[in-house]
Amino acid sequence: MSADDLSPDSVWPLPPAWMFACGECHRLYERMKDIQALTAELWLTGERGVDWDPFDMGPGSQIRLARHLAEVHTDLLPGWTRGCEHCAHRRSLLARDPGSAGARLVSAQHRAGHLFLPPRTLGLV
Ligand SMILES: [Zn+2]
Ligand SMILES: [Zn+2]
Repeated sequence: MSADDLSPDSVWPLPPAWMFACGECHRLYERMKDIQALTAELWLTGERGVDWDPFDMGPGSQIRLARHLAEVHTDLLPGWTRGCEHCAHRRSLLARDPGSAGARLVSAQHRAGHLFLPPRTLGLV
């Protein structure tokens, strides 16, 4: 474990209980954690195949979960997080174009990310 693993920015939050009451959230979350564990293991053992691309698979599974939360659980998502530069950025985009469904989805997706991702990876969702 490196010093980086101990920084608060790298800590995986414990998702709220309601996420596990939803079968789809539960499934997507487990899948994301499986991919994450597998990726970590393969990196450590050096057993990466030629077509193995953890940077594609990992964020892909995170975005699928964030997208599901944004679309289905909009009412349960947290508000903007103070001190998060990505929240600030998305908030200003949304303020510029409040009617845009795309901007609303991207904002909701990012706020959903705060429920289950370590802060340092939040730029991806
Ligand atoms: Zn769900
Ligand atoms: Zn944020």
